[in-house]
Amino acid sequence: MTNPEILARLARVRGIMFDIDGCLVISDGPSGHGGSVLPGAKEAIAQARATGRKVCVFTNGTAQKPSDIAALLRDLGFDVSDDEVLTPAVVAAEVMKERYGNKPIMVFGGDGMHHDFIKRGMNVVDLESAFAGTPSNAAAVVIGWDVDFGRAKLQVAAEAVLAGAELYCTSDSPSFASQERLNVGVSGFIVTGLSHVTSQPYQILGKPSAEAMSVVSRVLGVPNEEILVIGDDINLESAMARPAGALAGLVLTGTSTLAALAEAPAAVAPEIVINSMNELVDMFTEADKAHALTSH
Ligand SMILES: [Mg+2]
Repeated sequence: MTNPEILARLARVRGIMFDIDGCLVISDGPSGHGGSVLPGAKEAIAQARATGRKVCVFTNGTAQKPSDIAALLRDLGFDVSDDEVLTPAVVAAEVMKERYGNKPIMVFGGDGMHHDFIKRGMNVVDLESAFAGTPSNAAAVVIGWDVDFGRAKLQVAAEAVLAGAELYCTSDSPSFASQERLNVGVSGFIVTGLSHVTSQPYQILGKPSAEAMSVVSRVLGVPNEEILVIGDDINLESAMARPAGALAGLVLTGTSTLAALAEAPAAVAPEIVINSMNELVDMFTEADKAHALTSH
């Protein structure tokens, strides 16, 4: 029997953000590559839809574009559309547009990073001209999953930051969960190095930022208070949900362990802790049943 207060909050949930790696799937690489589906994950999404709740999935990687991640998830049997997949590249493009309009933005990463900027018709700095010495006049430098970040890129990125561009990254996570081995974080590696060489701070745009949470809310069309954020990493999903007033759920099939949970500061500790997504399905069933009984 679940705590009645939690059941009441679950019954009020109108939108759910699911993390991907360690929550819906365990993969061999970023964002669902060669993944296996975790127990109850498909059922949790199906139940959300059947009960009229909005759904989105949010992976903190920018190696792939949302439509490719959506296709991978559909191949695994998940019911998700392209527009329901969020990455920090989506957040970055939205925030850059909001803050800098049509000013030049220097963007580092592969197709998964550039796609969302191009889609919004943004003024992305041509790196070849920057390498050739043309001043970029960039208003911001955004670091994503750029596996080819070598000296030429470091030079132009640092010059832009030293000339006044604000420094952003999609994620500074040191690593993330996968089946075979620990996968190290590329964007965090780059941005901390850039921050070091320029002595300038950086801002994170992916989870757990407030910017990421507001894009989740906008995409779901649901206010934070009626959103459940569920994931396997206290420092990403719970840390994003709690300060924003969303309901935070932790599933113990990925990064965060019971030991990590015991050490989590109260302000970011998840309100719901489950061993598998099957338990989430059971909790929603219980919550909706209790709510139906009290509302009639
Ligand atoms: Mg995860």
